[in-house]
Amino acid sequence: MNGRKTHIIIFVIFIISIIGLAIIQYQYLRIGLNLAKVQFNQKIGITVNEIKEELKQPNELTFLVGKAITKEDSYFKLSMDSVQDASRYFLNDFLKDKLLQQGIKTEFTYALYARDSTDYLNSPKPYTTENTLLKYPIALEGYLPRLVKKRLILELQFNNLNSYFLSQLNGLTIPSLLFIIAIIFVIIWVLKSFYWQKKIITITNEFINNLTHELNTPVFSIGIASKILQEKTNNENKELVKVIRRQVDKLKNQIERVLELASIESKKSLIKKSIIDFKPVIINLVEEFKQLADIENIKFISEVKGSEYILNCDTYHLENAVNSLLENSNKYSKDNVSIVFMVYKDNGNLIISVKDNGIGISDNDKKKIFDKYFRVLSGDVHNVKGYGLGLNYVKKIVKFHKGKIIVNSSVGKGSEFIISIPLHDNEKQ
Ligand code: ADP
Repeated sequence: MNGRKTHIIIFVIFIISIIGLAIIQYQYLRIGLNLAKVQFNQKIGITVNEIKEELKQPNELTFLVGKAITKEDSYFKLSMDSVQDASRYFLNDFLKDKLLQQGIKTEFTYALYARDSTDYLNSPKPYTTENTLLKYPIALEGYLPRLVKKRLILELQFNNLNSYFLSQLNGLTIPSLLFIIAIIFVIIWVLKSFYWQKKIITITNEFINNLTHELNTPVFSIGIASKILQEKTNNENKELVKVIRRQVDKLKNQIERVLELASIESKKSLIKKSIIDFKPVIINLVEEFKQLADIENIKFISEVKGSEYILNCDTYHLENAVNSLLENSNKYSKDNVSIVFMVYKDNGNLIISVKDNGIGISDNDKKKIFDKYFRVLSGDVHNVKGYGLGLNYVKKIVKFHKGKIIVNSSVGKGSEFIISIPLHDNEKQ
C-alpha cells in the first residue's frame, strides 16, 4: 500500500469517527431529552394532584379567588379590580411554590375558566403564542366549582420546554461538544505538523541530493588535475600533491556515500549482492589504512584471523562501511591515536571490530549516533568535520546484509564498534 493511499484511509477513518461520535452524542442528547420529559411529566402529575387537593378546601386562597371570580365585593373594602389582581398574584405564587416543591423552575402561565368558556382569571403575564403551549388542565373539585355552580378548569401552561430541558442537560451537552471540538483541533494539529515535517524532510533530501550532485563535478575535475600534476611535478612537491589527492578521494567517498544513502532511502537501491570471499577485501583495506596510519602517525594494530570469509554481500558497500568505522576512529581521537582492527569468524558470523582510544561516546548519545544527521555536539567534536551520515550509512548497509552492529564506549577512554555479518554457509542452513 503506498503512502498516499494510507493517508486517504487514515483521513477517512478520522472523518467517520468524528461523524460517528457526533451521531452518538446526538442520540444521547435525544435520550436525555426524552428522559427529562418523562421526569417532567411525572413531577407535573404529582404537582397537579397536590394543587387539586389544596384548592378543594375553603382556605384563604380559595376564598379570595372565589370572591374574585364571583365578583362579590361586599367582603373587602377594595375595588373589584384590586381583588382580582390580588387573587391573580396569590394564585400565581401558590402554583409557583407547588412547582418549585417538585423542582420545576421553568416559567409558566395559567388560566382559570369554566367549561362554558367563561374566562375567570389569567396569570399576571399570559403568553401570547397559544398554539405552541404545552397545557396541563386540572379539573377543580370542591369549594370553587360549588361556588360558581360550574365545572371549573385551572390550566397550567408551559412555553419553550425544549430549551428548559436542554438547560437541564447543559452540564453534559456543552462539555461533550467542547471535547469533540478539542479532539478535532488536536488531530488536525497533529496531522498538519506531520505533513509539515514530511515536507521539510523531502525538501532537505532534495537539497542534499542536488548539492552533492553539484559537488561531484568540481571534485572530479580536481581529481584529474591533481593526477596530472602528480605525474609532472618534481620530487619536492610530490608529497603535497599526494595530500591533495588523498583528500580529494576522501571527499569523493563522502559525496558518494550521501548519494548512496539517498538511493537506499528512495528504494531505487543500487546495492547488489554476490557470493564472494571478503578476506582479500579486508586485507586490502588493512594495507591502505596502514599507509595512512604511517603518514598520520597512528598506532594501528590489525588481526585478520581464519581462512576465507564467504559472504553474500555487496563488496563495495560493505568495504565502505568498514572504512567509515576506521575513519571515525581516527577522526574522534585526540593525540597518540591507537586503533585495533580485528576480523574473525565466530559462530557462523563474520565479526569485524574497530576499537579506538578516542574521546568515547556517552550512554545518551550512543542511542542516537546511528540517526541520520546526528552529531555529538561537544567541544571536542567541534573541529571535526562531518554530516552525521557515516554511521547511519553503516547501519543501513549492515542491516541490508542481515547483520548487527553494536557499540561499546566510555567517555574519555575510547569506543569499539562491532559488526557481525552472517557467513554465507550459515545463511544457507
Ligand atoms: P560524522 O562523523 O559525519 O559526524 P557519523 O554518523 O560517522 O557522522 O558519526 C556520528 C557521530 O557519532 C559523530 O559526530 C561522533 O560524535 C560520534 N562518533 C562516531 N564514531 C565515533 C568514535 N569512534 N568515537 C567517538 N565518537 C564517535
